[in-house]
Parts: sequence; C-alpha cells; structure tokens
Amino acid sequence: MLDNKSFREEAHKLVDWMADFYENIEKYPVKSQMSPGEVLQKLPRHPPAQGEDFSKIFADFENIILPGMTHWQSPNFHAYFPGNSSYPSVLGEMLTATLGAQCMIWETSPAAAELEELMINWLKPIMNIPDNWTGCIQDTASTATLAALISAREKKTDWSVNKNGFDSNKLRFYCSSETHSSIDKAVKILGAGAGNLVKVPVDERLAIIPGKLEELIIKDLEDGYVPCAVVAAVGTTGTLAVDPVDAIGHMCKQYDIWLHIDAAYAGTALMLPEYHHFIDGISNADSLVFNPHKWMFTNFDCTVYFIKDEKALTNTFEILPEYLKTSTRGQVKDYRDWGVPLGRRFRALKLWFVIRDFGIEGIQKRLREHIGYADWFGQQVTKAKDYEVVIDPILNVVCFRYVNTDMSEEKLNELNAELLAAINSSGEAYLSHTKVNGKYSLRMVIGQTYVQKKHIEKVWNLIQQKASTLT
Ligand code: PLP
Repeated sequence: MLDNKSFREEAHKLVDWMADFYENIEKYPVKSQMSPGEVLQKLPRHPPAQGEDFSKIFADFENIILPGMTHWQSPNFHAYFPGNSSYPSVLGEMLTATLGAQCMIWETSPAAAELEELMINWLKPIMNIPDNWTGCIQDTASTATLAALISAREKKTDWSVNKNGFDSNKLRFYCSSETHSSIDKAVKILGAGAGNLVKVPVDERLAIIPGKLEELIIKDLEDGYVPCAVVAAVGTTGTLAVDPVDAIGHMCKQYDIWLHIDAAYAGTALMLPEYHHFIDGISNADSLVFNPHKWMFTNFDCTVYFIKDEKALTNTFEILPEYLKTSTRGQVKDYRDWGVPLGRRFRALKLWFVIRDFGIEGIQKRLREHIGYADWFGQQVTKAKDYEVVIDPILNVVCFRYVNTDMSEEKLNELNAELLAAINSSGEAYLSHTKVNGKYSLRMVIGQTYVQKKHIEKVWNLIQQKASTLT
C-alpha cells in the first residue's frame, strides 16, 4: 500500500507523465479505437484480495485504460462541445483532490464557500449579469436547469408542491425543439409530466419565434393551464442557435413566467463584450447557466448558475436536519441549500486558478482566436466545390456537409455519415454530427484549449482527403 514516501515518489513520476502526455497528445488516436467489451475483457473480473504494487496498477492504466480513452484534450478534438481542461485547471484539481474536502456548508470549509462567492462576483460584471443577481457553482448544466425549473415550480405554486405534492398537472413549460434534452429530463423529473413541455416553433436560424411562443401561452391560459417557465437557449447544442432573450423576457414578465437561460456552451462567449447582446434584456430573466467545463478551460465538472432571486432557490431546496445546524447559519452562504446534492466538491479552486493564470484578457484572446479559426474554416468550406455550410455559423461551430448535386438527399445523408466515420476512425481528428432541416451535417467545433490554426488546416485537408476516397 502506498505510504507517504512512496506517494511522494509516484506523484512526482505522475506529474512528469502528465506533462509528457500533454506534450505528445497528438500521437494518440483522438477517438478511442476500442470495440465494445474490449476493455472489460482485459481486466480481472474480481478485485484483488491483497494490495498491489502501484507500478502494476499504473502499467494497467497505460496499457489497458489509456487506449480505451477518447482524448478530449487533443487539439484535434472537434466533436460535441469541448470538455476543456488547461494546465492551471489540472493543478487546481490536484489540490482539490489532495484536500479532499466536502464543501456542503460554510463550516465544512469556509474558504471553499467564500471563493465560490467570489468567483460569481468576478464573473458577473464581465459577463454582463445584473449586479443584483447571485449564484453558485454546480456540477452540470442539467442539475442547474433542474434546480431552476423546480424553483420555478415552487414559486408558481406558492411553495405548495414541495409540501403537498402535485394535485394537478396543469403547469406548462416551454422551449424550442432545438433545446437540449436536459430540459425534457428536468420537466419529467420535477413531476410536471413530459406532455407539459411545449415545444415552440423556430425560425430559419432555429431560434424561438417569440410570436409563436406568445400564441402558445395565450392558448394554454385559455385552456386552464398555468404557464410556469420558459427555457431560452443561448447556443443550442446542434447549431448554437440563440433564442431572442429580450423579446422572450418581456413576455415572461408580462405573464409572470420564470425565464431560465441555458447558455451551457455559448455562455463563455459572454466573457467578450461583443457578445453581450446575446443576453440583452436579461433583467427580465430569472436564471442562467453556463459551463466553464465546456469552453472556459476548466476541467469537468464546473457549472456556473446565476440566479436573480436567491430566496426562490433556497426556499425550494432548504432542509435542515439537526446535524447540519450551525451557529453561523444566516450569516454565511451554506451552498447545500442551493441545489439538489448535499455534498459539494471544491470546484471554485480550479476556476480561480484558471482565471488568474490566463487573466481575463488571456481568456478573451483565446476565445477570439477560436472564433477566428472557425471563421477561416467556414470560408474554406464555402469556397470549396462540393461542400456547403448548412446554416450560418455562430461563434466557433460550423455545420457543413459534402454535397454533390447529382445525389438524392437520402444518398447525401448516407455519404456524409460515411465521411464522418472515415474521419473518426482515422484517429487523426474527431467530429460529431447533427441534422439541420433533415440534412445530415458534420459539426466542427473549434474550442479546444490549446488548438492552433495548423490543426484546423490539418482537419480540413483530412476531410477533403477522406471525401475523395468515398466518392
Ligand atoms: N445545455 C446545452 C445547450 C448543452 O449543449 C448541454 C450539453 O452539451 C447541456 C445543457 C448539458 O450539459 P451538462 O453535461 O453540463 O449537464
């Protein structure tokens, strides 16, 4: 078993391994090339009765686990949304693991609670979040959205569902068909019933049409439903569509509806003043979530949840068993009252490290570089014969496809799926796909922390080369 001396030795070796790994990350296939069951087959079915040497454990990590990993930190990773890390973030995470604190209440680690509060206060003015809002750090956007919609439910029902359960299923929730599945999940879990999530029609850029939303709200009121919350997306998962927050906000105010903004990925762009218009009218909203663990260089998990009315949140989630009663209650922030889990990791530490190491200007520079690379990539696709950008790109996401006018739409969809598989099985790059108005499209996301222009040039060459072998 490791003791302090051997821990020190192994930890030193591991840090060297980690630095080498980042230096050589492009030598690994971006997407794991393992087939189903392969990892399991290589591992013993039962745990060891006696402790094993760390060198043996680590050898298995390198030989069995590592090939089964997809490398999200590779600059050739362009799939989904990034799950970024960075050097300062890793160092912060190492310390968080070393301290191993469970930061459920202020007393269980005052610094964790106060640093969390500071991070919210640092981010608010930069991201143009109203000064009278507050917030906390949660694990995922899914959890924060669930907390928002449960708070909306409680506020709308005068805190009665928490007490008495549902006596009707008349509450209505609204979002577009493009919003993330975490909204569907939250509405299901909070007990309103999946059928009470109303999908609002979208325009040609896949953003909510405010007039359509209002028609649906009015119809629901006439039919005896109770409009409870709207989720506006600032950056949908498929194409980064941005719902019109200002118009939706006015409507929510008029009809007394909670407005939650899901800015999970694109929220990081609010670090740049030129994108503050995404949340024009935010003063009429109630909450906003974004994930520094996607595009803001802070490793998973780290989710910032801003909220206008702290009381709506704490009145909903507060439960006070005897063992959690403290003498500081009321004077400090006990974040266990701010969401579903009791236990909380010290996530603020790595975010603090990242912000201090990059500096705000360093973060902004990197974000603008990513957006610039995406602009360049979009131009190459537009210029190239046989390719098209399927929808105007927003920020650093470009949805595109191979097109050959002789082919039917069905054949084109098949061909583009084959193209994606060929790119990903090469191990040279990893992209994912979406469907835009029925068109199977490749989705190129350029947001990995250390990506450079040369990587984008490489992927563009790879795409063209793979396409030429398929057609
Ligand atoms: N909202 C949007 C727009 C997303 O794209 C995602 C995930 O990609 C989520 C929410 C869920 O994020 P999380 O994994 O933090 O729950």
